[in-house]
Amino acid sequence: MPKYIEISCKTACNRVNSDFLPFNWDLNIYRGCEHKCQYCFAVYSHKYMESENFFDEIYVKKNIVECFEKQISSKRWKKSVINIGGVTDSYQPAEKQYKIMPEILKLCIKHKVPISLSTKSKLILRDFDLFAELATLVPVNITCTITTVNENIRKLIEPNAAPAKDRFNNLKEFSKTNVNTGIFIMPIIPELTDSYNNLSMLYKTAKENNVNYAFHLR
Ligand code: SF4
Repeated sequence: MPKYIEISCKTACNRVNSDFLPFNWDLNIYRGCEHKCQYCFAVYSHKYMESENFFDEIYVKKNIVECFEKQISSKRWKKSVINIGGVTDSYQPAEKQYKIMPEILKLCIKHKVPISLSTKSKLILRDFDLFAELATLVPVNITCTITTVNENIRKLIEPNAAPAKDRFNNLKEFSKTNVNTGIFIMPIIPELTDSYNNLSMLYKTAKENNVNYAFHLR
């Protein structure tokens, strides 16, 4: 069982300087992630915190909702797209207890903030109505990273994340709304997830679940 450590933050959204990414701001309500993906790139971005155990010590930014409202209601805020959860999963198990995301989404609705969010959890469906409402006001993009249709391999590489079928179901449900949906097929791991059968099944299942786009990186 991971340890939850409550902390305060000074700002909610951090600037992302990238010509490649379709957003310039990132909002991470947690630091650390219980999903424990064996390929997690976010671990490396937290190397500066030597004592931190990224998967087992989850820092909860308790005042992030207040900080977020302050930031997006400022006259200087340019109504930019915000990526929610670039280096953590906003719907990891801690969110069941802390329920921060509904408050963030209510503020996005109030201030008409366009968002992008990626998750490997079916808990996102708890907030279905809020996403659907926001998507009637501004662009909303929801993606799930799905690397394999083989549940045995999924358990090895993403032990605490939802099975692929649940992630596809998330996208199928959101396809009934104005939300734009996508899958990230990455990483593609040699010998584990790079077979023709796996990749073609991922594309086929995405199509069957009305997913709008698929993106992959090798
Ligand atoms: S869901 Fe994302 S942030 Fe969480 S462990 Fe997996 S790759 Fe890392």
